[in-house]
Amino acid sequence: MHPSQQHFFRIVYPLRVLGLGLGGLAVGTVFWERHASWPAWGFFLFGCYLWPHLAYLISKYSSNRYRTEIFNLVLDTFFFGVLLPLMHFNLLPSVLVVTLAMMDRIASGIRGLWIMSLLGLLAGTLLGGLLAGFHWAPESSMRVMLACLPMLIVHTLSSSMSSHRLIRKVTRQNQELDALRRIDALTGLYGRGHWEEQATAALRACHAHGAPACMLMLDIDHFKHINDTHGHGVGDQVIRALAQVVRKNVRATDCAGRYGGDEFTVLLPGMQLEDALQIAQRIRAQVEALQLRDMPELRFTCSVGVACAEHGHSDLRAWMSAADAALYEVKKTGRNSVASAPVTAFAPAV
Ligand code: GH3
Ligand code: MG
Repeated sequence: MHPSQQHFFRIVYPLRVLGLGLGGLAVGTVFWERHASWPAWGFFLFGCYLWPHLAYLISKYSSNRYRTEIFNLVLDTFFFGVLLPLMHFNLLPSVLVVTLAMMDRIASGIRGLWIMSLLGLLAGTLLGGLLAGFHWAPESSMRVMLACLPMLIVHTLSSSMSSHRLIRKVTRQNQELDALRRIDALTGLYGRGHWEEQATAALRACHAHGAPACMLMLDIDHFKHINDTHGHGVGDQVIRALAQVVRKNVRATDCAGRYGGDEFTVLLPGMQLEDALQIAQRIRAQVEALQLRDMPELRFTCSVGVACAEHGHSDLRAWMSAADAALYEVKKTGRNSVASAPVTAFAPAV
């Protein structure tokens, strides 16, 4: 059993005390106006003011607290059902008791609870009617209406407050999920999806008003060999260390991401090729000098391809292909170096 289910009865207890206490005010007023019989009063007092504490104790000492508490919730509605004919179906309290009880059970989200409760309610109404007769007197006096107000007001406000809390919680969790989606777990850099969104926006800005932007595509050299020789744990440390170097060398307005595996992509909005090449060289040199704390003798390098956004790049794929081609050149000619994609001459459309 989940720990929250184990303590479910403790959450229900104060709500039941309050709900039945305030509901009892309305029902008691009807009983008083109708000069209810002593057995009816006895049942009413037991149900509204003793039962909540008894239900708590029954659940507390049950071997399956959660299931017992669900049963108690169904018993609550059975009890409400008995009260309806005893109140001669006085309209306002009857409607309120039934509606609010069913509303709580639907809102609880507990599978099947509302239907079991509805059946409990009908069974209670039937039993109450058989014992006390089905008398029909739905008019609610002003006094009864006033006695219903505390239940109505308190229930409405407390339901609104829990909805408010729930909405805030869901919003916060959605934001956390969104952040998790955007961030790569191993490195803390942006993940592929978010990086691509940012790069696409930068390319659009380039197309729309010629805003310059560059991208670095960076890949660790012979990374498979590092994994094979020293294990995946060391491989992960290398990825993390490299990510730190990348992060240190970019501005807050840049977007550094892990594209996948040992491949990193950095978006440098507003940057010309020369500056981007400098940053790429700086990262490459710092990676070459990196030492892992656990394995200072291990050396590793990376290769970087650089490409500027151009009007000729019809989409992000084309821009990335240019950076990838530059990276491929570096890999082909010995690695641990930086190369840029050739800038294509382009006559902007007028
Ligand atoms: P090259 O110099 O041509 O890039 O050679 P390489 O060995 O680095 O080749 P490649 O870039 O294709 O190798 C990527 C390897 O990275 C393959 C995969 O096993 C490993 N890898 C991918 N993701 C992870 C990861 O999260 N952690 C670790 N430790 N290894 C990973
Ligand atoms: Mg590699």
